[in-house]
Amino acid sequence: MKFDRLPVAIVGGGFSGTMVAAQLARKGIDAVLIDGSGRAGQGVAYSTSDAAHVLNIQADVMSAWPEDLEHFRRAVEDEGATGRDFVQRRQFGTYLRGILGEALESGHLRLVEKQATEAEPSEDGWTVQLDNGDRIAARGLVLAIGNQPPEKLPFGGGSARVIDNPWGPEARAAIPALASSGGDVMLLGTGLTMVDAVLSLDAAGHGGRIVALSRRGLIPRGHTEGFAPAPVDAEDIPFGNVRTLWRWLRRRGAEIGWRAAVDGMRPHSHRLWQTLPPEEKRRFARHARPWWDVHRHRIAPEVAAACRA
Ligand SMILES: Cc1cc2nc3c(=O)[nH]c(=O)nc-3n(C[C@H](O)[C@H](O)[C@H](O)COP(=O)(O)OP(=O)(O)OC[C@H]3O[C@@H](n4cnc5c(N)ncnc54)[C@H](O)[C@@H]3O)c2cc1C
Repeated sequence: MKFDRLPVAIVGGGFSGTMVAAQLARKGIDAVLIDGSGRAGQGVAYSTSDAAHVLNIQADVMSAWPEDLEHFRRAVEDEGATGRDFVQRRQFGTYLRGILGEALESGHLRLVEKQATEAEPSEDGWTVQLDNGDRIAARGLVLAIGNQPPEKLPFGGGSARVIDNPWGPEARAAIPALASSGGDVMLLGTGLTMVDAVLSLDAAGHGGRIVALSRRGLIPRGHTEGFAPAPVDAEDIPFGNVRTLWRWLRRRGAEIGWRAAVDGMRPHSHRLWQTLPPEEKRRFARHARPWWDVHRHRIAPEVAAACRA
C-alpha cells in the first residue's frame, strides 16, 4: 500500500495501538501498525482463547469508542449477552479485531506483522527499524508497547518446569499437561494473572494442589452490585502527596464504602499520577500500589467466588 504522505508509525497492536490506528483511520490519516506478536488487534489481555477468562468489568463500560458508549454492549447483545454481563475476554478480542478490520478496509492503515527494534528521529519525522531489516519512514511515532513480558526468573535456569512468561505459548501448553498429570502448581504472585491461571487449570480439570505465593497475601477483590456511585470533584482531592491522599481515601472509604470511594477516583487517575513528584511516584509503587491494584482492578463476582472455593 502506498500512501500520499508519510504515515504515522504505531508500534504495538494491543488495545491502545489498535484504537490509535482506528481513530486516525476515521480521520483519514495514514498509519502503519507494527506488531510482531501474531496477536495484532487483541494484545496480551484479549488474545486469550480460554473461555474461563472473563472481562474484569461489565460489557456496558467497555466500549472502545468514547462517543458511542453502547458500542460494545450492542456487539455482546447480538451474541445473547447483556451489558451487565462480565463476558469472555476473547469476545472483546473479536470486537477489537473487527475494529482493526474496518480501519484496514478504510485504506488508511497498513498492518506490518514484525517486531520494531529501534526508532530514531529523521528529517521528516522518524525511521523505525524492524527485526527483518526493513525500515519504515514515518512522520510521527506512537509507542503503544503495553505489558512487556516479565523478566527472567533468577532461578530455574532453562528448566521446562519453570515458566517465566505467564502469557506465552509455554504457559498455555502447561495447562493441559498439568491437568492430565495432576501435578501440584506453584504460582508466583497473586494478581489478575494468577486468577487467570487458576481459572484455566480449573477449567482444564486440574485436580492437584495450587499454591500462590505473594509478599502481602493480597488478592483482587470482587465486584458487587448495590452501591451508589459517588463522583468526587477534583478540587476536593489532595493531589501531589501519596500519604495525604491515602489517608483522605481511607476516610472517604469509611464514610461511603471503599468500592464507591475507589471508583470515584477513576476520572482523576491520570492527573493524580501526572501530578505526583518522582519521589512520591516511587513511594506509591513501593507501598501503595499492591493495595490500590486489588481494590481498583476488581474481578467478576463469579470469578471471586471461584477463587474462594
Ligand atoms: C491478563 C490481563 C487481563 C486484563 N483484563 C482486563 C479487563 O478485563 N478489562 C480492562 O479494561 N483491562 C484489562 N486488562 C488491562 C489491559 O491490559 C489493558 O486494558 C489494555 O488491553 C492494554 O493494552 P495495550 O495496547 O496498552 O497493551 P498490550 O495489550 O500489552 O499490547 C501491546 C502490544 O505491543 C506489542 N509490542 C510490544 N513491543 C513491540 C515492539 N517492539 N514491536 C512490535 N510490537 C510490540 C506486544 O506484542 C503487544 O501485542 C488486562 C490485562 C491483563 C494482562
